Order: sequence, then structure tokens, then C-alpha cells
Amino acid sequence: MSARIIDGVKHAKQLRAGLAAEISEFERSTGVRPKLTVVLVGSDAASRLYVSNKAKACRDVGIESATVALPASVTLPELLAVIDAANEDKTVHGILVQLPLPAHLPVRAVLERISVDKDVDGFHMYNVGGLVVGSTVFSPCTPYGVQKLLEAEQIPIAGQNVVVVGASNIVGKPTALMLMQKDATVCICHAKTRDLAQFTILADILVVAAGRPNLILAPMVKTGAVVIDVGINRLPDGRIVGDVDFEAVRLKASHITPVPGGVGPMTITMLLHNTLVAARALSGQ
Ligand code: NAP
Repeated sequence: MSARIIDGVKHAKQLRAGLAAEISEFERSTGVRPKLTVVLVGSDAASRLYVSNKAKACRDVGIESATVALPASVTLPELLAVIDAANEDKTVHGILVQLPLPAHLPVRAVLERISVDKDVDGFHMYNVGGLVVGSTVFSPCTPYGVQKLLEAEQIPIAGQNVVVVGASNIVGKPTALMLMQKDATVCICHAKTRDLAQFTILADILVVAAGRPNLILAPMVKTGAVVIDVGINRLPDGRIVGDVDFEAVRLKASHITPVPGGVGPMTITMLLHNTLVAARALSGQ
């Protein structure tokens, strides 16, 4: 068997084309152009690249974007004041604070300051709670991208055994919650899970978000499983790989996402989607 490669670039392109049309129609009928404000603290090269990619993606679909760049030495009150200003600004519909933050800034306090109506990353406690009780407002972008990829590939979720490897607040836990909401039977594994393979081998859908290259080897995967690799790892030789041994696992899986070109392009796409949802809600649409 050789797995069908899930082409995240293709799916993201299709979704973005649809979003561009919706945004243009929204602006035509309301006179409002959706706007995203991104707050970038410090000069971490990867964070800067992510932020500039987000700004470009916004431009491409007709969303206005502004980046507020702050020095790594910014104090918590100064950062909160920037968020407050964006919360107050009626022309801003989405606010995103690029993570990670420098160690002196408490992440939760910063995320909790973002207005829940503009929390397009879905990280505010209110929106996390919405996920738990099944009345989601803004789904976190990477898990949402995973769900959309499964739907675009017409992979059934209800009743399937889903194993999520990784239990972070931004990827693993929300992915598990969202797929459980779609009636999957979900198991979450993490770094202290004993004998990871005894769980992964049961997965009809295996979602891996650990940030460990080659964590998932072919013997750990059930024949015919759908494998979604969220991991992004830079090897010493500069190559970018996921968490799954792609070449070996593709011979056993029914579907597999490549890295790069799988989940990654969907993450920003769902951010664009959430920004339009915010603009609509804030404009009473
Ligand atoms: P994170 O906060 O470091 O969380 C990693 C999770 O994996 C933790 O729950 C950890 O367990 C678990 N883990 C680590 N080693 C493990 C092992 N050997 N076996 C089982 N579980 C293990 O990372 P994250 O922010 O969730 O990101 C995960 C990966 O996804 C990273 O490679 C990141 O770059 C990538 N990512 C990709 C996108 C995208 O758009 N494609 C977006 C976000 C993140 P503990 O909780 O026990 O420590």
C-alpha cells in the first residue's frame, strides 16, 4: 500500500480562494474591511517569519493587517496597554499575540487580556471553555486546520479511534476536544505515556504533534490508518521534517500529510477564516 498524500497546499489554496470571495462580498455589503492586528514581541527569527507570512496571507485574501513590533524588554503593563488599544479599536476585528513570549511575560495573563470577540487564535480561556462544552466560537487554528483537512479528504471522524500524540494547550488538547466533538473516540498521549506504540497502533486516525523527529515509526501505525503529522522539526542539515518517519509510514497508511506542505498551510488559512468570522460578528452580521 502507498498512502494518498494529503496536499495541504492545495486544500489551503482552495479555502483561501473561497475566503477571498467571501471577504470581498462582506466588504462590498458592509463597507467594512476585516482587520487583524498581530503583536510581535522580540526579534526571534522564526516568530518574525511566521508574522510576515500571516501578513502576506491576509493581504492575499483582502484582510488588512497591522503588526505591532515590541522589544523583548517590553514590560507586562506596556504589552497589556497595546492589547487594550487593539481591543478598543473598532477597525480591528482580530488580535493575535505571536507565541512564544519572552520568559518574563506571563502567557496566560497576556492571552486573557485579548477581547474574547477578537481572540482569533482561540487561546483565551473563554474560547477554550467553548471548545470543552461544544459551543466553539473560535477554534484554535492548527487543530481547526487538521479537522478541515480530514473533512476535505472526506475521511469519516465519527466512531473512529483517534490517537493524538502531544497534549499542549495550542495543538494536542484542542485537537482531541474538537475530534471528540465530532464523535471520535479519542486518546491523548504525551511525554510520560508508557509504551506509546500500544496506543498509536489502535488509531484509525493518528494525529502527531510532539515536535520529535522520527517519533512515529511504521510498526507503531495500524495498516490503513490516516496519519496527520503536525510536527515541524529542523534537522542539523537544515531539512524540515515532521514527527513521523514519512517514507516508511506512507507504505502502511491509507492517507498521510507531508511536512512541509500538510498541516502548516492550513493553520494560517484558519486564522484568515477566524478573522472573517470575527469581523462578521462584530459588524452584527
Ligand atoms: P509543545 O508545547 O512542546 O508540546 C509537545 C507535546 O508533545 C507535549 O504535550 C509533550 O508531552 C508531547 N511529547 C513530547 N515528546 C513526546 C514523546 N516522546 N512522546 C509522546 N509525547 C511527547 O509543542 P506544540 O506547540 O504542541 O507543537 C508540537 C509540534 O507541532 C512542534 O513540532 C511544533 O513546531 C508543531 N506545530 C506545527 C504547527 C503547524 O502549523 N503545522 C502549529 C503549531 C505547532 P508533555 O505534555 O508530557 O511534555
